Amino acid sequence: MTNGQNKDRVRLAPDRPRRRDIVITAALGMAVLFVLMVTGVLAPGAYIGASLAFASLAFVYFLTAVTTAQPRGRMPVAEPARPSEDGLALTMLEKVSVPILLIGPGGRIEQANPAARALLALGAEGGLLSTSLRQPRVLEAVSAALRGERGTVVEYATLAPIESHVRAYVEPIRLPVAGPMPWRAMLVLADETSSKRAERMRADFLANASHELRTPLASLSGFIDTLRGPARDDEEARDRFLGIMREQTERMRRLIDDLLSLSRVEMNEHQLPVGTVDLRAVTRDVIDSLGPMAQARNITVSATLPETPVEITGDRDQVHEVVENLIENAIKYSPEGGQVEISADDDCARDRAEHPADRIGENSARLLLAGPPFDPRSRFGVVRVRDHGAGIDRRYLPRLSERFFRVDGQKSSPTAGTGLGLAIVKHIVTRHRGGFSVESEPGGGTRFTVFLPKPAARAETATETGAAASPAPVSPGQA
Ligand code: ADP
Repeated sequence: MTNGQNKDRVRLAPDRPRRRDIVITAALGMAVLFVLMVTGVLAPGAYIGASLAFASLAFVYFLTAVTTAQPRGRMPVAEPARPSEDGLALTMLEKVSVPILLIGPGGRIEQANPAARALLALGAEGGLLSTSLRQPRVLEAVSAALRGERGTVVEYATLAPIESHVRAYVEPIRLPVAGPMPWRAMLVLADETSSKRAERMRADFLANASHELRTPLASLSGFIDTLRGPARDDEEARDRFLGIMREQTERMRRLIDDLLSLSRVEMNEHQLPVGTVDLRAVTRDVIDSLGPMAQARNITVSATLPETPVEITGDRDQVHEVVENLIENAIKYSPEGGQVEISADDDCARDRAEHPADRIGENSARLLLAGPPFDPRSRFGVVRVRDHGAGIDRRYLPRLSERFFRVDGQKSSPTAGTGLGLAIVKHIVTRHRGGFSVESEPGGGTRFTVFLPKPAARAETATETGAAASPAPVSPGQA
């Protein structure tokens, strides 16, 4: 911020009356007259007249000086002991990341801190506010403040170049100057874009969640009406409808479970997990627990896991949830009688963790959905889940971890998922400072990869010795 205000203050501060000088001058004048009278140069009558004239002149001068000065309390700027405080205040304004401006008569920008200069792209000369900020309501509020009217808060939004929401605080400030224009307007522009976006996301999320719950609920209530009315005595229809109702309640339960899980993950997303988890053991557990689901669809699940445990830093339940979501999807989106292949690797560098040696197809597309910043020292435990289902078109890959996203055509089936599984995976992986990637080819299937950081000490030891567990095939039964 420029120091214009300080300059004004210096120029505007009137001189104090020098009373001592005036008294000394008057006394000296009268002493000279007295000497002239004693030495006979001046007659006593002339002496009295001249003394009176002298004293009145001195008095008038004294009075003038006193009345042109302002009282002490209203002139803090005249106190010489304060410049360091003013300097500090200005430095603080310079450092504040919120844009702050001082607008003078005619809407001219008199001062602007760096944040305001950057936001409004101001040159060295501030210029007129109206040329940098085309917001009529803000300009009106500034004009009112320049007339000394009450301060106001104005909210406005811009769509270009990027969408932003700003709350403008306008306050009148009266400067301690004589003259017709003592008012200035202080303008503070607070950026509220991120809080508005969060608000909208929350609203969208609620709308989506309610919509997802309303569909099975509507279907349930329809079947209840049918069973109480037309199908009351139709045994066959009743069994069929009860089956569908069970599916719908299952769907609602899954949705509520996923919503709760997502909210739990979000709550501790910024807290690094501290436990140590064996990724190989977790993968085996998940394969076992999903065995019945795979059998029901006649899907063969095979696993290639290392001979030794794959230790990573993590929260066991959350790591279990990640692996479970991926394997469940692979089974769900495979054709009946299909194959799902699972593999794990230990102690991988980032590049090897993210990019498997082979591709699933010549035209497959790969995308990193979440990943930690690159650090050459990091080592990871890795799980890959590969299916031979319909695959996913490359244009959908970036949206896979969006909440409630489902690829077109997979939304209406009765067993359709919640669209929350991969969002949960991404949140958990991000909390673990790990990575999550997908590779897919329509018609050729999909491969999801998750890599999670190994405990630092182990990673160092492994790097020093160059040890890495060698994968050995494990049959589904063994896994
Ligand atoms: P859902 O509960 O719907 O499975 P997810 O978040 O797990 O939710 O997955 C989001 C969407 O991504 C799914 O609805 C599906 O369209 C697609 N998808 C996920 N995994 C696969 C896969 N292995 N093969 C094909 N499509 C998949």
